[in-house]
Amino acid sequence: MTVKVLLKSAKNKCAVPKPTLSYRGRFAPSPSGPLHAGSLLAALGSYLDAHAHRGTWLVRIEDIDPPREVAGASDLILSQLEAHGLLWDESVRRQSQQDRLYHRNLERLQQHGLVYACNCSRKDIKARAPFYTGHCRYRNLPWQGNALRFVNQHPVTSLLDRLHGQVTIEPDFAAEDFTLRRRDGLWAYQLAVVSDDRDQEITHIVRGSDLLTPSSWQMALWQSLTTIAGGPPAPKLVHLPLVVGDDGRKLSKQNHAPPLLAADAVDNLSLALTRLNLAPPADLYGAPVAEQLSWAIPAWRARNLQ
Ligand SMILES: [Zn+2]
Repeated sequence: MTVKVLLKSAKNKCAVPKPTLSYRGRFAPSPSGPLHAGSLLAALGSYLDAHAHRGTWLVRIEDIDPPREVAGASDLILSQLEAHGLLWDESVRRQSQQDRLYHRNLERLQQHGLVYACNCSRKDIKARAPFYTGHCRYRNLPWQGNALRFVNQHPVTSLLDRLHGQVTIEPDFAAEDFTLRRRDGLWAYQLAVVSDDRDQEITHIVRGSDLLTPSSWQMALWQSLTTIAGGPPAPKLVHLPLVVGDDGRKLSKQNHAPPLLAADAVDNLSLALTRLNLAPPADLYGAPVAEQLSWAIPAWRARNLQ
């Protein structure tokens, strides 16, 4: 059987769903190192989901943590995505250039009494309880030199995920007054990611399952900002399985997962598709990346969207 025949049969099978023109998805790596097999899975899953919806797929570099940034990693990540055929639709956004956006949202929250300063160390917090319980909420500490926390008035304890169904979040975790700005003055991930997702009108977030529980914080923050300033509805969530190494631990930069090599792109892609339960047919395994992706988009649609 030729690839052409396969493509045709896949296309026919997928003529049913109507295109969702407003779909906007994103892949948002941090430049703390090159992409590895685990991050390729997240990139590929979000790319396929966006294309299966005939939507827009964006890439955002989450470079808000200069101490953890590896020189040259941003450009390397983009070239790795290109080598694997994962081409983005709009210009790449860099979080390091979105200071004004984060300030604006912090100010909005402050004006509604939803921000306070906290000088607790990690050790202090751990000594009191497994979770931060709002120790500094009413202490009126100065902002300067302290972390800023969100008054988490309406914790989100249940999330709907397209793969996992209704997910219950540990109530004490969900209710934590999480950090918006770090003690060292750098933006905390939750504020940055929610600000960008709202600003870029992201409708679907597809990423690794390790980010499932923090999604409850992000949805709480999203709802608060919507209450204050309006804006897009909360995005739909899909949390993909994680790639684990031989030791059973999640593949990550911290665990020294080997970087993806452009020279291995066709094999990397075939393996990543297999890990997403979309094993390419034998004659497509190891085919050029564009051919594999052309096959995989309708296959993803047939498997996940019907
Ligand atoms: Zn505190």
